[in-house]
Amino acid sequence: MERFSTEFLNATIKTWQPYSAVPLTSKDAMEITETYLEYLNEVQSEIGERNYPFTNFVYKFFDELIADLVEQNQISQCQFCGDFFPINNRQKTKKYCSPKYEGKDCGKKARNKIDYERHKEERKAKARKTTKEWREFYREMGIEK
Ligand SMILES: [Zn+2]
Repeated sequence: MERFSTEFLNATIKTWQPYSAVPLTSKDAMEITETYLEYLNEVQSEIGERNYPFTNFVYKFFDELIADLVEQNQISQCQFCGDFFPINNRQKTKKYCSPKYEGKDCGKKARNKIDYERHKEERKAKARKTTKEWREFYREMGIEK
């Protein structure tokens, strides 16, 4: 499955062609999109205090840009790490970053977290037992720890 639909790439080319002296290709469109998505995620993760009128004003534009892109089904937010990724028509139900496209497996991390939450108490008991066993082992071996 391609990361971007042909329709999306053509729209990107149409938007950016006026700024380029040479004809843009699908590969250029992909690079443009990936670069801007990277910027978007960087800004998104760095957004801090909104208490100052100026920063709040700027962030509001950013919020609206994201809201527009989400509404137009161009991007979607990872339900685990909060990064945005592009979606194409066949991926509308995508919920997490994938190893193939975003280079990280947030779906797996999310499932592990759910599994951990479900079995938290037994995991903790197991971990405590292991630590206790190690302490005994060290004591037997005469190792100061
Ligand atoms: Zn993610």
